[in-house]
Amino acid sequence: MIQVKNLSVHYPDTKVKALTDISLSLERGDFVCVLGKSGAGKSTFIRCLNGLQKPTSGQIYFDGKDISAHNEEKLRKVRRETGMIFQHFSLIPRLSVMQNVLTGMFGYRSSFKNLIGWFTADELALAKRVIADVGLSEMAYRKVEQLSGGQKQRVGIARALAQQPKVLLGDEPVASLDPGTSNHIFTLLTEMHERLDLLTIINVHDIELAKRYASRILALKDGKLIFDGPPEDFRDSE
Ligand code: ADP
Ligand code: ADP
Repeated sequence: MIQVKNLSVHYPDTKVKALTDISLSLERGDFVCVLGKSGAGKSTFIRCLNGLQKPTSGQIYFDGKDISAHNEEKLRKVRRETGMIFQHFSLIPRLSVMQNVLTGMFGYRSSFKNLIGWFTADELALAKRVIADVGLSEMAYRKVEQLSGGQKQRVGIARALAQQPKVLLGDEPVASLDPGTSNHIFTLLTEMHERLDLLTIINVHDIELAKRYASRILALKDGKLIFDGPPEDFRDSE
């Protein structure tokens, strides 16, 4: 589904080589955890996959098409098919769970519809379904600022699912959560991966979590891919 060929990213301002010559291919059945210390390049890698970061060299093929050659309109389509969840959730605190989830649909609606805030019955039904999927039906009309960290990340996941993505990307989505809550979130991500046939790629710095949930581990060190394989073969070399 995604082919990465000789991907390198150099940041000119800091002269940092965030990624160096990464090549791999990601398939629908993969539940990938990307491991690496802070600064290893995990976040840069994730942002390359949905076109938020342009490669310095190399290509990323999404369904066979090179996204580095895409214009903004085509990139929007890639981002629509790529749900994203974040460490600090990136929700709108004063809006309800339902309103936050509906913003996940903005990407594929006309700007006029977004402006007047009008949603079709199908869109509202989809929002309700994904809120149920993440176990928050009873809180659908509560303001997000009143929720716990784990509940907020569930809203983040529901918002991503409302895009009906083919790929789910996570940039350290459990880094701000306690261990118990982190396990609950990973269990939910595993369920969604299996039920929706969703290629899932999640950055984590916790090796134990990656080993428990991933079907495949990628390990980055100083921007280089130092491991790509099943969790049972992964040895922490640090
Ligand atoms: P990780 O997610 O593993 O912590 P990042 O991809 O955020 O790693 O960062 C990789 C390296 O690139 C780090 O050395 C970081 O300081 C640098 N870097 C990240 N983003 C930028 C940027 N926008 N401009 C300059 N340097 C950056
Ligand atoms: P966590 O450690 O999981 O992040 P929190 O300390 O954020 O948990 O919240 C604990 C409980 O308090 C949760 O059930 C949450 O719904 C509730 N809560 C947190 N903040 C507020 C608030 N501002 N108003 C009402 N309830 C809140």
